[in-house]
Formats: sequence, C-alpha cells, structure tokens
Amino acid sequence: MPGRCTQSPLSAERSTQTPLAKRIIAWHKRHGRSDLPWQKNPTPYRVWVSEIMLQQTQVKTVIPYYQTFLKRFPNAQQLANAELDEVLSLWTGLGYYARARSLHKAAGIVQGKHKGRIPRHKDALVALPGIGTSTAGAILSLAHDQAHAVLDANVRRVLARHADIKGWHQESKTQKKLWHIAEQHLPEKNAGTYNQGMMDLGALVCTATQPLCAQCPVQIDCKAYHNNTIAQRPTRRPTQRRKRRNFSVVIVQYQDSVLLEKRPAKGVWGGLLSFPEATDISRAKAWCTRRFGRHIDYQEWQGIRYNLTHIEMQITPLRTILKSRPRQLAEAEHYIWCKIDHLPGGTSSLVKRLLAKTQTTKTI
Ligand code: SF4
Repeated sequence: MPGRCTQSPLSAERSTQTPLAKRIIAWHKRHGRSDLPWQKNPTPYRVWVSEIMLQQTQVKTVIPYYQTFLKRFPNAQQLANAELDEVLSLWTGLGYYARARSLHKAAGIVQGKHKGRIPRHKDALVALPGIGTSTAGAILSLAHDQAHAVLDANVRRVLARHADIKGWHQESKTQKKLWHIAEQHLPEKNAGTYNQGMMDLGALVCTATQPLCAQCPVQIDCKAYHNNTIAQRPTRRPTQRRKRRNFSVVIVQYQDSVLLEKRPAKGVWGGLLSFPEATDISRAKAWCTRRFGRHIDYQEWQGIRYNLTHIEMQITPLRTILKSRPRQLAEAEHYIWCKIDHLPGGTSSLVKRLLAKTQTTKTI
C-alpha cells in the first residue's frame, strides 16, 4: 500500500475499527459494488472524473458519459490539451456544466504545475478547481488507500441517520458534526474499502426514500431507526423560493441552419451555445430588425416554462425564417450558424427542446 501523506490528529482514535466501520467493510466484501467502470483500474484520474460526474447525478446516467469521456481523454494531459468546447460537448446532457469547466481547468494546472501527475497530498488536491474535501478524500482513499474521510451525499445520509443528526448539512454546526463523525469512523487501514462501502450502502440500502433497513448491516445501532426518525434524516434544506426570470429568445433560421450565440462562461448554460436572448419580446423584435432589416416576418410562440434547480424561467420564443442570406453579424465571434440536423456538442438543452418544435412548424 502506498505511504500516507499526512497524519491526522484523529488517527489514534481510529487505530482500531469502530463497530460501524467493521460492519461496513464486511458488508462491502459481500454486497458492495465492484464492477463499475471507474472501479476497474482505479487510478487517481479515473476516480477523479467519476467523482465529479457523480456529483448530483445518478450512476446509471453517468456510466455512458464516463466511458465516452475516458475514451477521448484517458489521462489528465489529454484533457488539459483539449479545447474546452470539446470537453463541454462530451458533457452535454449531464448538466451542471461548471463541473466540466473546473475539471478542464484543474487538468491544465495538473499539467502545468504538477508535471501531469495528480497530487497525492490532500492540500494540493483541494487547491485544484472543483475538488472539495470529500472529493479529495475519495480520490486519495479509493486510488491510494490513504485514510481520508468522504462525506458525499450517500455517506452523509448514512451517517446522519446512523447518529440521528438533526440540522441541514450546509449549516456549519451540522457540517462540523458530520465531518467529526466521519473522521471518527474512518479506519486507518482499508479506508478505501470502508469509504466505498459507505457510498454503496447509501446508494443501495440506505436510500433517500424507502431505505431497506431490514438488509442493513448497521441497523443494530442505527439511532434514526430506533428513534423512528428516518424520514426526517438527513434534515432537508430549508425551503427556498426559486428565482424567476422572464425573457425572450430569438430563433433565427436560414435554410437548414439556425443562429446560436455562445453564452458567457458564468450563469445558466454557461459557455454553451444557445439562442440569442432579449429581456422581452419587443426587444427581441428590435434585435432582429437591427440585424436583418424591417421586412422580416415573425412568429411569436406561446411561452414555455423551463425549470432548473435554482431558477424558474418563463421563455417567450420569437421565430423568424430569413429568405435571403443574412449579412455578416457585427459581433460575429459570439454567433454561429449551425445545421439544425448536426448541432455541435455543447449546445444548451433549451435549443434542442425548441428546435424539436421547429420541425413541426416549418413555415411562418
Ligand atoms: Fe439507513 Fe435504515 Fe441502515 Fe439506519 S438502519 S443506516 S436508516 S438503512
């Protein structure tokens, strides 16, 4: 086993395995997952990519994306040398594109600062964009068997229930408590197996709804089970109103192409191609007139609702089909004519949804 990089002050506490750790390790040997693509040859790079893709995304969704991504970018160097657009295009459909941008940026730092090798020290890992304490713990424990705790959504759920911890995990008091418990249970030896076992237990048994407590190896001392508080653990995020945004998008079509705009790196659909936007329909028309002249016909579509986790969007599309070849756009670098049947990767999901409608609405 590779040498440890850091000695945690809690290491004395966890030199012997806690009953929970013992049960988890034994359970994982019999029932844990061992055939996921990133579990075969778990190099730091392969674990890293999988951990980033698995944030907020289910395993079955991730698998095909992971395989395609790894085929194209088998190591950090190849990822660092790629254009961001290509990385985003392979990410299209996975959502949360900031993850892809950070991964690409971090690969550049690994290449430039760490000679292409992913750091084996936790501090150096968490200094990379997109890698938090839990992701660093997963990379170091799963790839090098170093004793670092993981506190992803699955592990958090198991620990919050097992110790019956009240409070939303983002509140600093609760966060500290959970990390403390995670550290207490972390065994000095077999940390990788233990962490994988905790993640698997959360994914397969201690699921968010309808956990399979009868099959759980830690039911015997699970406080939430005995206190009948499972449904309240982990404590949900205090309800927060989603932001609302009303705006208009312009679908400009010329023959078999449509005009798309590269969005700024930050914000909704950051860095992706999407339709040009205006704050409302009259500004959208004014935008078209400025660029394509007065004598164009419009079709104002019924508004559609488009929801993301944090934002609720009411979008009014304005469609126009140009009859003659448009003159060069002044801000040409932001705009791109794309074949409707061959959209480039890195195109927003809104474009696909609205273009599906243009197929059934051929004329204005
Ligand atoms: Fe989760 Fe039930 Fe096991 Fe407790 S007993 S850890 S609630 S599956």
